[in-house]
Amino acid sequence: MIEFQHVTKQYGPDATALRDVSLTINKGELVFLAGPSGAGKSTLLKMIAAMERPSSGHVIVNGQDIGRLKAAGVPFLRRNLGLIFQEQRLLNDRSILANVMMPLMVTGAPRAQAEQRARAALDKVGLGDRTNSLPLALSGGEQQRVSIARAIVNRPQIILADEPTANLDRASAERVFDALRAFHSVGVTCVISTHDEVVLDAAARVIHLRQGALE
Ligand code: ADP
Ligand code: ADP
Repeated sequence: MIEFQHVTKQYGPDATALRDVSLTINKGELVFLAGPSGAGKSTLLKMIAAMERPSSGHVIVNGQDIGRLKAAGVPFLRRNLGLIFQEQRLLNDRSILANVMMPLMVTGAPRAQAEQRARAALDKVGLGDRTNSLPLALSGGEQQRVSIARAIVNRPQIILADEPTANLDRASAERVFDALRAFHSVGVTCVISTHDEVVLDAAARVIHLRQGALE
């Protein structure tokens, strides 16, 4: 489902983020990405979403070569991806329900259907009773679970999460991981970068990166 073939990514002559990375992530897998800050975790995740392209090598997602994907193909690729990245903040001027409805509204879904699906998604992350709240009225962990609901409301085949529990306390982090594991358990492929030692120790599969290379 996701394949990296000898992938190198250079942002500039002195900035090599990934070095000759080859790996395969199968459909339905839950995979954690570990490594110190600057190891290349975000870059690897961004390449799966065509937010960055390889300098050399190939990244294949659902049979498509990301390096050869035309601009018009990017929305089709992303339709199958749920993205949980720091860059994608919630909109603070509208309810969490409106935030989660947004990915459906932009694809032209009828409002009633979007609302019903968004409510179901918020239920799944344990926020079904907070739909009218504004994001800033929620704790950091709750906001992160809203981001998960927004990422999965389109029923993507793949979820990509970049350090989704950074800055959260233990209990909040556990609830965020539980929400992600729940989608994995219904067949969604999940790739999650984290520094969380408790989660990494218990994980079935961890990809370790150091200075852009697999360990
Ligand atoms: P991580 O997510 O593990 O912290 P990143 O993928 O963010 O690692 O970064 C890997 C390396 O690439 C770092 O040395 C970082 O400084 C560099 N880097 C990341 N993004 C850019 C960019 N847009 N321009 C230049 N260098 C970058
Ligand atoms: P509904 O059919 O009313 O939308 P479901 O209980 O079937 O309700 O799904 C609830 C929500 O779970 C969906 O709206 C969707 O956001 C989310 N979801 C995302 N991916 C999946 C998946 N692979 N399987 C089930 N639910 C998913």
